Amino acid sequence: MLDKNKALVVFSGGQDSTTCLFWAKSQWPDVHAITFRYGQRHVCEVDIATELAAEAGVPITIMDIPFISQLSTQCSLTNDAIKMDCVKPADAPPNTFVPGRNLFFLSIAAVHARELGIMNIVTGVSQTDFSGYPDCRDSFVRSLNVTLNLAMNEQFVLHTPLMWIDKADTWALADRLGVFDLVRQRTLTCYNGIPGDGCGHCPSCDLRRKGLEEYLKRFNNKK
Ligand code: ZN
Repeated sequence: MLDKNKALVVFSGGQDSTTCLFWAKSQWPDVHAITFRYGQRHVCEVDIATELAAEAGVPITIMDIPFISQLSTQCSLTNDAIKMDCVKPADAPPNTFVPGRNLFFLSIAAVHARELGIMNIVTGVSQTDFSGYPDCRDSFVRSLNVTLNLAMNEQFVLHTPLMWIDKADTWALADRLGVFDLVRQRTLTCYNGIPGDGCGHCPSCDLRRKGLEEYLKRFNNKK
């Protein structure tokens, strides 16, 4: 029997999933996190996720799934020899896309949630600043929710608090949750593995910075 008061957050220690972690804490009394070691370039992600979860008082499970990088060799996030796409190609996802990543993450998270008796599963995917990753779309998450429930005969509820908000609103949410500084200074979003404001020039830093500037502009206008 799954407990509706419990949630599992798919957590990477980045801006989005850290905001989701604190959002989950504001919604449910019992929150857990799961993070994946999947052959990513910057395995320090896992250390950052572990530190942030400890600070949030949330138990974390680190799951090793090295087959992800073995499956897909043409991804710039798992293969150092490939230069990262800085501009999204018109007809295909950028080479920072890890095929199947969210499919595996969410499926493994659901099996783990079942083991822990957790009904709610939270992921920080967003369709708003669409990165070209098909597995960040709402239709995918809804479809997978149905599949997971059928696969395990359970009633999981997948939550995507960031699905329809942009990066500026994600900063606003972190601020409302009282973790703006923590998210800004401590999370790792940068594709080059630099925490906080990051390297400043990879596509991920670019998106994060534009959102932050937009949020600070809105915030200062309100004062
Ligand atoms: Zn960067």
